[in-house]
Amino acid sequence: MGQLYLNKVRKHFGHFEVIKGVTLDIKDGEFVVFVGPSGCGKSTLLRMIAGLDDTTDGDIVIDGEKVNALPPVKRGIAMVFQSYALYPHMSVFENIAFPLRVEKLDEARIKEKVEGVAKILQLDQRLQQRPGLLSGGQRQRVAIGRAIVREPKIFLFDEPLSNLDAALRADMRIELTKLHRDLKATMIYVTHDQIEAMTMADRIVVLSGGDISQVGAPLELYHKPENVFVAGFIGNPK
Ligand code: ADP
Ligand code: MG
Repeated sequence: MGQLYLNKVRKHFGHFEVIKGVTLDIKDGEFVVFVGPSGCGKSTLLRMIAGLDDTTDGDIVIDGEKVNALPPVKRGIAMVFQSYALYPHMSVFENIAFPLRVEKLDEARIKEKVEGVAKILQLDQRLQQRPGLLSGGQRQRVAIGRAIVREPKIFLFDEPLSNLDAALRADMRIELTKLHRDLKATMIYVTHDQIEAMTMADRIVVLSGGDISQVGAPLELYHKPENVFVAGFIGNPK
């Protein structure tokens, strides 16, 4: 299960209110895309869901359990960032295995899990190589592998493809869609890219100034933007 409920979530940095009471219900297995201008609070919201930032107010509820007080590793969430740091001196295998070593899993289980993940991400021929030998897309897949290997219920992606060139982004879009289908996990995906939002999302959440402007299926937002702001982002203004 990976059902996520945000109830009036707020975040202040000093006097500055960055997230202004966001309420959102995300279904188990849903692919939700967050869009909105730079500085509107997308990363802050993801960081609170992951437990990397405290909430100032409001509840974060996963599968019916309030998780505000739980540390990141206890939330069943994996986060993949735009700038992913792989360990250059370790093989692809060891990079993916790293979170399992932290959890002190036994060697046979680690091997089984890493090989399973490598197969899904088409990295099975690369396991003994160092990251420096891989392409940008392959390195990003290693970072995703390291997130998947702990079998999280919920994935958070913060503009994971924005450092890749257009052709690679298109490939990764297809791979992430496949991954979502294979893992049946809940995914929240932040992007600036309208094509990513339109093609990958079950629902798009448009954020503006720390608030939700509109939530809906891609075509719903495209054809019926509720305001000029949404229209400017994804709409078909008429
Ligand atoms: P986005 O990811 O949508 O570009 P962010 O969530 O990174 O936006 O930032 C939202 C706002 O919060 C911005 O105005 C940013 O400057 C501010 N902010 C983010 N993190 C901090 C912090 N640790 N301290 C103070 N202000 C912050
Ligand atoms: Mg951000």
